[in-house]
Amino acid sequence: MAYDDQNIFAKILTGELPALKVYEDDQVLAFMDIMPQADGHTLVIPKAPATTLLDLDPEIAAYTIQVVQKIAKAIESALDAKGIVLMQLSGAAAGQTVPHVHFHLIPSSIHQLGRHAATPGDPAVIQAFADKIKAALATQ
Ligand code: AMP
Repeated sequence: MAYDDQNIFAKILTGELPALKVYEDDQVLAFMDIMPQADGHTLVIPKAPATTLLDLDPEIAAYTIQVVQKIAKAIESALDAKGIVLMQLSGAAAGQTVPHVHFHLIPSSIHQLGRHAATPGDPAVIQAFADKIKAALATQ
């Protein structure tokens, strides 16, 4: 599928839109979801322009998963999470709302997830969880 370079995450990557970043390197960015389905809901995206996981270069996908694992470990220790839902929606038909491939890390249970991309969280609360996750990453 043709990549829309005006999508929200593309604009976060260029700096046109703000994000509560918890991790960044030359290939991947992790930031807080602004409509979290649980406290600590974090998104991990490759910087490469790909709409869905199916469009993503396999080597970049593999590296992105390494970062997903790193962030998941930080969430686990920062929030004392007993489990983390890893979700990846590919295609609007699957419910994908932002057309730049991303992985959701949601410290919760599949049985307790809130509504998807529906309710904005309190920015101060989201910031506090971002700070905790960043502090945990700093100790890895
Ligand atoms: P999906 O529906 O799988 O494409 O997920 C997109 C996610 O991005 C949803 O969980 C939204 O809450 C989240 N989201 C939308 N806009 C922003 C934004 N500006 N910053 C952070 N997260 C966002």
